[in-house]
Amino acid sequence: MEKIKMTTPLVEMDGDEMTRILWKMIKDELILPFVDLKSEYYDLGLPNRDKTEDQVTIDSAEAAKKYGVAVKCATITPNAKRMDEYHLHKMWKSPNGTIRSIMDGTVFRAPITIPSIHPVVKNWEKPITIARHAYGDVYKSVELRADEPGTAKLVFEGKSGKRQEIEIHNFDGAGIIQGMHNTDKSIKSFAHSCFKFAIDTKQDLWFATKDTISKTYDAQFRQIFEDIFEQEYKATFEKLGIEYFYTLIDDAVARVIRSKGGFIWACKNYDGDVMSDMLSTAFGSLAMMTSVLVSPDGKYEYEAAHGTVTRHYYRYLKGEDTSTNPMATIFAWSGALRKRGELDGISALVNFGNELEAACFDTLNEGVATKDLVNLMEGVEAKAVNSADFIAAIRAHLEKRLA
Ligand code: NAP
Ligand code: MG
Repeated sequence: MEKIKMTTPLVEMDGDEMTRILWKMIKDELILPFVDLKSEYYDLGLPNRDKTEDQVTIDSAEAAKKYGVAVKCATITPNAKRMDEYHLHKMWKSPNGTIRSIMDGTVFRAPITIPSIHPVVKNWEKPITIARHAYGDVYKSVELRADEPGTAKLVFEGKSGKRQEIEIHNFDGAGIIQGMHNTDKSIKSFAHSCFKFAIDTKQDLWFATKDTISKTYDAQFRQIFEDIFEQEYKATFEKLGIEYFYTLIDDAVARVIRSKGGFIWACKNYDGDVMSDMLSTAFGSLAMMTSVLVSPDGKYEYEAAHGTVTRHYYRYLKGEDTSTNPMATIFAWSGALRKRGELDGISALVNFGNELEAACFDTLNEGVATKDLVNLMEGVEAKAVNSADFIAAIRAHLEKRLA
């Protein structure tokens, strides 16, 4: 069989530990035999980040901006323990944080669903994608403990000399105060990424805040979304038959639970933090959660939502057989290759992305799965296999499909 040719390079960001092992297996077994892979390779493994003083992370993000599509392996975010383990020169920042701020992107997380794994919420028939605004609010707030009676004020001093002042509270005893912010620029980027991703995946977009209570702060989020939608995306949404739906956050939560799924839920920073954990648990498994970073100008970086699966890696190093689930990492590759194919007009590559995912479903539907899934599966006779055998089974289905 002739391999599928590519025109533009795919930006490939390699990573750490167990996912680095899976990365090579996926490439060798599921990609390279079928695709004449044109990639620009960046080794984001911790040793190379340390060696390059993290320049490799910055370079990889710049390349993602330049070419438009990247695929990333999970990476270690160093802490004190990792400093010793890897003899690091510095506690390098989270690569995902660095890439996100260079691409100015929003992260969309969606579960991979299969018929034999039932979500806890039984009316969910389709995946729910969650988008979290990843800037500001309580995550960049300042806090103060007042330990005596007194007055707390919010003061803004403009560059022009303009001064705005408002009383927060007149304390008659001790208390606590918090000051948080966001910027129009960041909210606008978030809105653009959300509307673009909704169009890209042809799904409705939901957004919710508490603007009945927060009449300036949350109301600004609502207004920015509404203005951008009206001005730039409404016509395309109508053409595609998809909807932008705004409601209050508490109403949104109730509706999400009662829904059939199949939409994107855009959340403010804190809501997204909490709700993404709720959704991934309710859908079944972190190992089945995909993640894509979308920039406001339509650049994409695909990855798995889970980390480097350290516990499995230490067992692997001891020579033990590991059954780590490669699904989310495979879907990062299929998603990235399909997107590259769409952008470059290579239908064979688009088709390959689809068939690779279908081969994964063939495998799971016949009950061949990694250990983490076997206990969750119902209605099929499930058999746990190790990662290599699971990937080999997917390859057999993929070969059949492409023949
Ligand atoms: P993790 O790697 O997601 O793993 C946590 C646990 O979840 C695992 O021990 C395993 O449970 C289960 N799990 C996750 N993915 C799985 C898979 N594909 N197959 C089977 N089981 C899976 O999180 P962590 O252990 O907290 O973090 C490890 C490292 O990853 C850290 O250094 C962290 O900095 C990094 N990290 C990176 C990213 C990223 O690059 N996007 C995200 C999160 C964390 P059992 O052990 O019970 O089987
Ligand atoms: Mg959280």
